[in-house]
Amino acid sequence: MIKRCPQHGFFRGEHCECGLAGQLILDEARTEQLGRLVAGGLRHFPLDLGLEMDSRGWVDLSKLGEVVQKRHRWASKEMVIALAQSDPKQRYEISNQRIRARYGHSMDIELDHPECHL
Ligand SMILES: [Zn+2]
Repeated sequence: MIKRCPQHGFFRGEHCECGLAGQLILDEARTEQLGRLVAGGLRHFPLDLGLEMDSRGWVDLSKLGEVVQKRHRWASKEMVIALAQSDPKQRYEISNQRIRARYGHSMDIELDHPECHL
């Protein structure tokens, strides 16, 4: 599950590292559903979801928010941000209101990671 700590932002699990229980954002089932959709859209089939992706793998975060809400009525852009920021494997990167997967694409894109050494 994904929760939000008032002090430290989004985290996975029951408690934040600081010990607070936080506020529930996504339960286990929804985390998995949204995770599959976001991973699929950013790594494998952006066009099928109506997402425009640039040559470096970026898509507009608001547009992705609309797309996930179309698939799951409960979903939102904030939940996509929660998912990305709490990802234990740091699969996603958010910058300038855009989001992309850091790795694992099945399409041909040019990843530039000047700031990242994965
Ligand atoms: Zn905390």
